[in-house]
Amino acid sequence: MQQIYDMIIIGGGPAGYTAALYAARAGLTVAVLERMSVGGQMALTGVIDNYPGFEEGVDGFTLGMKMQQGAERFGAETIYSEVTAVNFKAPVKQLVTTDGTLRTKTVVIATGADPKVLGIDGESEWTGRGVHYCAHCDGRFYKDKTVIVVGGGDSAASDALYLSRLCKKVYVVHRRDTLRATKIYHEPLMSAGNVEFLWNSRLTEIVSDGGKLTGAKLENIPSGSLSAVTCDGIFVSIGRRPVTEFLDGALDTAGGYIIADESTRTSIPGVFAAGDVRTKELRQVVTAVADGAQAVHFAQEYLATQDK
Ligand SMILES: Cc1cc2nc3c(=O)[nH]c(=O)nc-3n(C[C@H](O)[C@H](O)[C@H](O)COP(=O)(O)OP(=O)(O)OC[C@H]3O[C@@H](n4cnc5c(N)ncnc54)[C@H](O)[C@@H]3O)c2cc1C
Repeated sequence: MQQIYDMIIIGGGPAGYTAALYAARAGLTVAVLERMSVGGQMALTGVIDNYPGFEEGVDGFTLGMKMQQGAERFGAETIYSEVTAVNFKAPVKQLVTTDGTLRTKTVVIATGADPKVLGIDGESEWTGRGVHYCAHCDGRFYKDKTVIVVGGGDSAASDALYLSRLCKKVYVVHRRDTLRATKIYHEPLMSAGNVEFLWNSRLTEIVSDGGKLTGAKLENIPSGSLSAVTCDGIFVSIGRRPVTEFLDGALDTAGGYIIADESTRTSIPGVFAAGDVRTKELRQVVTAVADGAQAVHFAQEYLATQDK
């Protein structure tokens, strides 16, 4: 008879391994399913400075490994496999993976949300070394320097405002002639002395001197004319892509994100969404780990009702 886990967690990032730690310590049988390598988006991050407890910062790969080891110390299992489909119809839920089907009483979905990329020449080459996707994470490297923020929505506006307080100069490159961001950002951005808008424009290429990023080429969309902007860093803030396709509509979502508040409860009892994949305002390591703990708290509450 195939094992029925108390909990299976999909995704081995900070939300997933925090849930695994809490679940294992609570005595639940728990496995983390990870399709690539542990750490999630943290593993792409050179230095994490805003996760408490590391006075010198910590590299994301190390932090991911430590989270995994911490959970495994209490008996959590890691299975390297990708979840491709789910069946949440019965109380015992089924997860179809690339290596077979697993059964579990509760599920924590912690599959994250990848930042959208521009897909232009030089972008992947300079990622983490001049091209960034998280202003709150990497902005400090550009104190008193010049940066470009790409995008015109709320996250781009918020990033531009944040960077305007750190940097000497912030260019906001947006493909339209006005911000899509909510009005609260307009006035502070327009009145910041060091923010310049390059409207109706898009980046076409990252420029470097071989050793370091030095700027970007831009196209004015209506006229097609090309120009160049010199800068030290580029922050791409054009949205994120929540990793939820494998759910195939099994849960309620908004813009691809699983609808769940801080309780992490989803539209299906016994299924929880933790970390970047759920609807929330701030997507960071600290908020992901908080979600992982919350998910187990409410999963235990759910399991108690099932045992009656
Ligand atoms: C470049 C960069 C720098 C950042 N820097 C910082 C920083 O300095 N400080 C900070 O607080 N935050 C930072 N962040 C944000 C932070 O990394 C995320 O908020 C956090 O990792 C989210 O954790 P998570 O567990 O929700 O998801 P993720 O970290 O995205 O982990 C999700 C995991 O799920 C796995 N997965 C997805 N789908 C499946 C599937 N179907 N089956 C099995 N596994 C699956 C993925 O492979 C991944 O390992 C940064 C993000 C990026 C991209």
